[in-house]
Amino acid sequence: MQTITSSKQAIQLEDQYGAHNYHPLPVVLTKGEGVFLWDVEGKRYYDFLSAYSAVNQGHCHPRIKDALIEQAGTLTLTSRAFYNDVLGPFEKYITEYFGFEKVLPMNTGAEGVETAIKIARKWGYERKGVDENRAKIIVAENNFHGRTTTIISFSNDANARKNFGPYTAGFIKIPYDDVDALKEALQDPEVVAFLVEPIQGEAGVYTPSEDFIRKSKAACEEKNVLFIADEIQTGIARTGSLLAVCGNCSCEGHCERQSTYTKPDMLILGKAISGGFYPVSAVLADRDVMDVIKPGQHGSTFGGNPLGTKVAMAALEVVRDEKLAQNARKLGQIFRDRMQKMVDKFPIAKLVRGKGLLNAVVINDSEDSSTAWDICVKLAENGLLAKPTHGNIIRFAPPLVMTEEQLHECCDIIERVIAEFK
Ligand SMILES: *Cc1c(COP(=O)(O)O)cnc(C)c1O
Repeated sequence: MQTITSSKQAIQLEDQYGAHNYHPLPVVLTKGEGVFLWDVEGKRYYDFLSAYSAVNQGHCHPRIKDALIEQAGTLTLTSRAFYNDVLGPFEKYITEYFGFEKVLPMNTGAEGVETAIKIARKWGYERKGVDENRAKIIVAENNFHGRTTTIISFSNDANARKNFGPYTAGFIKIPYDDVDALKEALQDPEVVAFLVEPIQGEAGVYTPSEDFIRKSKAACEEKNVLFIADEIQTGIARTGSLLAVCGNCSCEGHCERQSTYTKPDMLILGKAISGGFYPVSAVLADRDVMDVIKPGQHGSTFGGNPLGTKVAMAALEVVRDEKLAQNARKLGQIFRDRMQKMVDKFPIAKLVRGKGLLNAVVINDSEDSSTAWDICVKLAENGLLAKPTHGNIIRFAPPLVMTEEQLHECCDIIERVIAEFK
């Protein structure tokens, strides 16, 4: 393997040999620890993307690393043709952790979403009595649920869809955060599920009204329709509670505080479930839903393997033991307060929104302007990595292990850079 000695060289190699399916900021990273990343020239950065919220526990967390190394030298993959001695304990651990009866482990987030779609359809035919091949799933406009052919079929991002057809049928799109539109769509007796992100991360951290989740679930329940929460980005303490569907409860364990918790019929997790070490995703549901899947009807060679499940248990232990939800809640408030002051002062920053440590600042320029990109390049020069999402929106999502002092330092950097752009 060629040794990389400069950013320029690494970028050139990716340019020449890699598919151009991403447009990265011109920074080449070589090392991560906690809230920090280092580039090949030795410059240190605060990470404000956390690999799209996959490293909530911070980079290279020692406890997760130890779990990975130990299991890597013991047993990594058996396939599901046989039992192994880690999967059962993992299934018990994760179902108790999140308060569901059953789990189906996969690898990537998109696979988790595909799994939920398959379960919902099968449930619709076998439990709800929908005629074969007629099942419909309601989704929200501007959703992001992954990149497979079925999932992009119900995206409305032209870039994600164009020339990837023919598209999978059976999806109804409604505006996000619109319970009336949901109720209208639920009139169709062939609807089997409503699939939704409690906060739309990729779309630009669109945070719905306080009661959107609770009311949506109630409307679904009334029509015998499954409420599926895609918490791949919002879950695992990111938004200041264990799950975004926990509402205003910031305890780290699973609880069912009547006033705030909305239990989905299916919960999809990915990203931070393994703290950035190994792709793990999971669908959680109770028996009446999960039991529609029988042997041979769904699976994955790597899904539920000993290495991934050991890593996931360690990653979830870290979230609980280090009280990451509480920290995200406290720091998120400080971040939005400081950003609000900045927005009030500099017209180039239009507004700040979000929950916990999943936040975004909207830049006051057209969606196709390069202003947000230019700001992110300047932020990187000043030692902070963030990435625009959808043109003029910058998402700020640091690892949840950040300290208050570090956060203030980061707010100083952001303010200083924004001031240059006024
Ligand atoms: C990232 C993400 C996915 C897809 O996960 P992958 O691991 O990239 O396949 C799905 N849904 C949401 C909400 C996400 O943020």
